[in-house]
Amino acid sequence: MDIILLGPPGAGKGTQAQRLVEHHGMRQLSTGDMLRAAVKAGTPVGIKAKAIMDAGELVSDEIVSELIDAELTAMGKETGAIFDGYPRTEGQAEMLDGLLAKHGRSLDHVIELEVNEDALVERITGRFSCANCGAGYHDTFKQPKVEGVCDECGSTEFKRRPDDTEETVRHRMQVYRSETAPILPGYEKRGIVTRVDGMGAIDEVTGAIDAILA
Ligand code: ADP
Ligand code: ADP
Ligand code: ZN
Repeated sequence: MDIILLGPPGAGKGTQAQRLVEHHGMRQLSTGDMLRAAVKAGTPVGIKAKAIMDAGELVSDEIVSELIDAELTAMGKETGAIFDGYPRTEGQAEMLDGLLAKHGRSLDHVIELEVNEDALVERITGRFSCANCGAGYHDTFKQPKVEGVCDECGSTEFKRRPDDTEETVRHRMQVYRSETAPILPGYEKRGIVTRVDGMGAIDEVTGAIDAILA
């Protein structure tokens, strides 16, 4: 089973993807995470991507599609993929079709997380994650069970993203509307889009997604 999680920044894609990995043994393919790893490692891709990401613009279709290609090559066909934050343009959606065919895979669901944009700024500016394992948290909505200690790995180090400022978030939302939302009609024609209310509690959203996959 291969699925796309679609929604503006802060909609909850990464949070829900982490749950799907735990509950269904699927694999999360987040181009944002891959790019941040490249930035941290100082690879040529990372050096190119850093300023673009800090500005909330999109990295080129070729770069992100090559990252996805490499991951699909490395993982077995039997493991389901969760595309998180990819595709983000019509060009990437076309490239994904080519990659899926190349790797003998096909898309089962496109799940769109519907959210109220006003809530997203609060979600993004309160977002932080474990510096060791990447588990996601929120200042108000999802604190670790023991303050200052990661639920998943016990680490006491956390980090925030440099692009999670109010100004950049507003720009990223505009980019979502102009570049990413237009890929939905193409998937709708194929009859594989399901909308989920992303404004509920994290567990409720997970329940709605589980019902689609069941
Ligand atoms: P995305 O990957 O779509 O950008 P995240 O999954 O990182 O979004 O979520 C953004 C922030 O909002 C995180 O801090 C996360 O803990 C929090 N969050 C995610 N889903 C919900 C929800 N349903 N209700 C409240 N907060 C949420
Ligand atoms: P969010 O879900 O909060 O918007 P991501 O972690 O998915 O954030 O992406 C962070 C940044 O990485 C984006 O603003 C963009 O600069 C870059 N990026 C991630 N995925 C893509 C993609 N598929 N195409 C182009 N740029 C991307
Ligand atoms: Zn951790």
